[in-house]
Amino acid sequence: MIEYEKVNQLLYKLTHSSEIEQEINNLNVIKYLAQMILENTPIQRIQNQPTFVPLQESLQTATDFFHEFNQDYEYIFQNFLQEKNTYQGYEDIGIRFFKIRKEGEALEVNGQSQTNNSMLFFEGNIRIDYSEEPMDIYSIVHESVHKLSLAKGSWTNFQNLFYEVPSLTSELLLTDYLLDAKKYPENEIKILKNNRLQSLMTYAAYDMCFITLLEIHQKKGVVNEELIKTHISNLASNSITTRIFSQCMNAFLQSILSERLLLFDAERYIVGLTLACYMHQKIMDNPDKKEKLFQLIHLLGEPNYLEKETFLKAEQLDIPIIKDGQLYIDDQVLQNLYHSYGKEISSIAEIKKKETRTP
Ligand SMILES: [Zn+2]
Repeated sequence: MIEYEKVNQLLYKLTHSSEIEQEINNLNVIKYLAQMILENTPIQRIQNQPTFVPLQESLQTATDFFHEFNQDYEYIFQNFLQEKNTYQGYEDIGIRFFKIRKEGEALEVNGQSQTNNSMLFFEGNIRIDYSEEPMDIYSIVHESVHKLSLAKGSWTNFQNLFYEVPSLTSELLLTDYLLDAKKYPENEIKILKNNRLQSLMTYAAYDMCFITLLEIHQKKGVVNEELIKTHISNLASNSITTRIFSQCMNAFLQSILSERLLLFDAERYIVGLTLACYMHQKIMDNPDKKEKLFQLIHLLGEPNYLEKETFLKAEQLDIPIIKDGQLYIDDQVLQNLYHSYGKEISSIAEIKKKETRTP
């Protein structure tokens, strides 16, 4: 049973906050990106027996990747590994590692993690949850790239939207690197890519649920089971988007109720995924385009709070969803993004038949 009264309280609180106008506007563009992801991700999670990779080896592989990606980043990464940060009076090391507990393993008190919750903290420390698998290299590269554009102070709308683009683009480049290096089975690396795209798709489903609730709330002033059903039945019933997000709606409602929060958190993964695929394809066509990615990393870390100026600078970096210093979308832009997204999906198409799928 969904407690709609509480859902309405959350929606009321959110829509009566003065600071969310920008975020609501963003959804007009995000909506098309989320739909594009839901319509074009015909993949499911694939089970795999991962190769054993000691953490030291993953750190070395990440170093080798950075060496090829950008030598400055390689030196910076080496420094991250030796860094100590002082935060609120106490000293902490730059990167902390926590082993993820495997099923059936005894629980230790210290240094263990239940799930992969790798992250970069605002003060600049990185937490890496590792499992001695090739996946660890992705976590290390992803969080280290975030740290390259670490900005002090509160976040701007620009950072909220584009924060994930460099890390996710680096993951795609890392996949190419690992496939070229042939250190791990090709199929295993492709399965990691498959599962990553699949997990990122959930952000698109989350936002479509969110957008639907906001639309109903704006029109009717209230949401309930009946209104949601009517709203969904009025949408194109044969569309994959409608099918996926209507299936996810109850889980979405339960998650916002248990956290008692409605957050604009999914947008940066939706923008991140679509633009990462776009930038990756550009770099594959012309490696010099890596420069644009480096500039974006720099721009994200620049504490320039004149929003319009930052967007105008980003427009120079071939970011197709910015026009005249604002977030923008039209059919042509969507077509271009669809094209690059489709290429990523087809790059993993051939693994599906070989492995047992899980629903
Ligand atoms: Zn991230």
